[in-house]
Amino acid sequence: MKHRALLLLLPLLAALWPLAPAVTADGAMWNATAVGEVGYLPLEDLRSFYKFMSLPPKGEGTIAIGNGAVSLVFGPDARELRINGCRFLLSHPARRDAVQGLLVSKTDMVKLIDPVLRPTYIANRRLVKTVIIDPAHGGHDTGTVTAYAREADIALLVALKLRAELTSRGYHVVLTHEDNRYLSDQQRVDCAARELNPIFLSLHLNSGRSDIRGAETYTVVPCEPDEKKPLPGNENDAANAALAAALQASLVNRAGAKDGGCRRAHYSLLSSLRCPAVMAELGYATNREEGEQLMTEAYQTKLAQALADGVDAFAAVMNPESTLKASPKPVVQEAPAPARVEPGKQQAPKAVKTTVAQGKKPAKKPAAPAKKPVVPAKKPAPQKR
Ligand SMILES: [Zn+2]
Repeated sequence: MKHRALLLLLPLLAALWPLAPAVTADGAMWNATAVGEVGYLPLEDLRSFYKFMSLPPKGEGTIAIGNGAVSLVFGPDARELRINGCRFLLSHPARRDAVQGLLVSKTDMVKLIDPVLRPTYIANRRLVKTVIIDPAHGGHDTGTVTAYAREADIALLVALKLRAELTSRGYHVVLTHEDNRYLSDQQRVDCAARELNPIFLSLHLNSGRSDIRGAETYTVVPCEPDEKKPLPGNENDAANAALAAALQASLVNRAGAKDGGCRRAHYSLLSSLRCPAVMAELGYATNREEGEQLMTEAYQTKLAQALADGVDAFAAVMNPESTLKASPKPVVQEAPAPARVEPGKQQAPKAVKTTVAQGKKPAKKPAAPAKKPVVPAKKPAPQKR
């Protein structure tokens, strides 16, 4: 009982971190080490807390821990972590200490690793019924336009397909705009504020060097444990991380996008939204191959289905009635190993099986979180602010 109570207390203890520099949890002492202004925890403490084993390194310069169902791989880039293969860019680079071994920032532990590993412990989780889809740009604001792809047009096309997909799965779906018009960030925020407990997906295309490609999912930069003035978007730091992970894993595993990782940025839209929110950069308009792929209806459909699967995976763990799992049950699952191709043999079709939705097979119907269906009885009354 005591053990379970301690696990339940973790998010609370985390919030109180500056007041509680060392917390005994599950027999392990959380030894905070300050590096500059950042608090770090030894990876060894995390391993012990989650009852993980040390795993053989997955590539040169990496450190891995986990069990049969979960793997966390740090490095070789100190900013990078992979959880069940899904790529994350850390808030603070991991550090290597001669005595304590690998150190992971407390912000990343509390605002990224734990919500992804144990999403059922997210303190303010709510049943997901309403999804707001925000096609980026519009009107005079075309977003990125290249010879290969036009951002605002593709964002809108994928948004319309995603609306159809999510509606068929029982969600109440709201588009911030469904024709080619300009909306300010404030108008998009106002749209979210009118709905009851929505989640918010803003769809974009990326731009960069012509050789860069891949999908990236952004959330607001999580606030530090001792932040005095968190932004409105920081109310949902933990849920943002879980939502981004579910969507990014699905874009990679289901749609076959290259994994550009879950990232954080100070975008004013994400900072202002008071609901779980992400910005999905579906691919690079500036990369010829990806830009041309993004313009095809087949790929747009694939992206919409992948995003809907990601929403299902997130919804399944956000239902407050879903049971707390003392042992980690990540919102992202390991992707199936690609089929081996013998030399001279034809390439097998690419495996794009979804690995989200808590390990369930992708379902046409909504992966209804626990007992209650995600189908809303009717449109929730607009929330007055
Ligand atoms: Zn954009």
